[in-house]
Amino acid sequence: MIELPHLDLARCAGHGDCVVVCPTRCLEFVEDKPYLLRPRDCIACSLCVLVCPEQALRMVEVED
Ligand code: SF4
Ligand code: SF4
Repeated sequence: MIELPHLDLARCAGHGDCVVVCPTRCLEFVEDKPYLLRPRDCIACSLCVLVCPEQALRMVEVED
């Protein structure tokens, strides 16, 4: 199992702090919402979760 950020679209305000803070640039904006377009580049640092003021992101366990 690995951990990846999961987005709650209903909570996301679309201002992009999570995309900017991601050290490996694996999050990308698509129509003003952040998507994990390169999950293999995610190092599970949780910075995107911590920086989100709307609590729209959380780390979830997924099969690798
Ligand atoms: S920081 Fe949170 S609210 Fe802002 S774009 Fe990212 S997920 Fe959405
Ligand atoms: S957990 Fe870290 S590496 Fe993964 S998407 Fe969030 S900020 Fe980027």
